[in-house]
Amino acid sequence: MGTERGLLIVLSGPSGAGKSTVIGALMRRRSDIRFSVSATTREPRPGEVDGVNYFFRTHEQFAQMLAQDAFLEHAEYVGNHYGTPSAPVEENLNAGYHVLLEIDVQGAAQVLQKRPDTVSVFLCPPSMAELERRLRGRGTDSEEKIQGRMDRARREYALAKNYAYIVVNDDAEKAAAELDAIIMAELCRSEIRLKTIMEGDRPI
Ligand code: ADP
Ligand code: 5GP
Repeated sequence: MGTERGLLIVLSGPSGAGKSTVIGALMRRRSDIRFSVSATTREPRPGEVDGVNYFFRTHEQFAQMLAQDAFLEHAEYVGNHYGTPSAPVEENLNAGYHVLLEIDVQGAAQVLQKRPDTVSVFLCPPSMAELERRLRGRGTDSEEKIQGRMDRARREYALAKNYAYIVVNDDAEKAAAELDAIIMAELCRSEIRLKTIMEGDRPI
């Protein structure tokens, strides 16, 4: 990697919008992104691996991390706690990687306040009916949890305007291509490009 710091990117969107799917597609397109693994008190879904998808922690362990001020941000979501461990984010940014946080709207607001240079993207499903279909199709949540996630999704939509970019996940590969284009555009911003040019030996 180069010597410059990477971009901090937050991706939010209703549960079931396809964030994990689109992130998978994006990471196959780019090798310079590190996914920030969050800590959560929620139970693992089938196929989810501790330390890869999440750090699955007990409520007591989560409270201990909070007391140690280990989180860049944290939030409660449909009965469970979620938080972004700060240390790996800083390490990866300093190593020049772009760091992707897949976090909810409350957490994103905390990050944007702390670090206004964060690139913020809201991922939408094509419709609420399709969102419900995807949540059911995933087959990992009870009816009560699905209704909780749908209620939450309606409230989250109202906050999409706080994000710099909105991507609609109709087709996951197309959504990943749009995210890739956003990253490319952000890297071309004059304040970032000029820094790269001045600090490096690139001819103008
Ligand atoms: P999130 O991470 O936002 O909660 P997931 O990536 O788990 O969402 O996707 C929810 C469900 O929708 C999964 O079953 C996934 O396979 C499906 N899905 C994701 N993107 C699409 C898409 N573009 N078209 C159809 N189904 C999709
Ligand atoms: P899920 O249980 O479907 O994996 O995630 C539920 C919600 O929690 C999603 O909106 C997801 O983006 C969000 N989330 C995951 N990790 C974090 C985190 O570290 N912080 C915050 N604030 N939200 C998170």
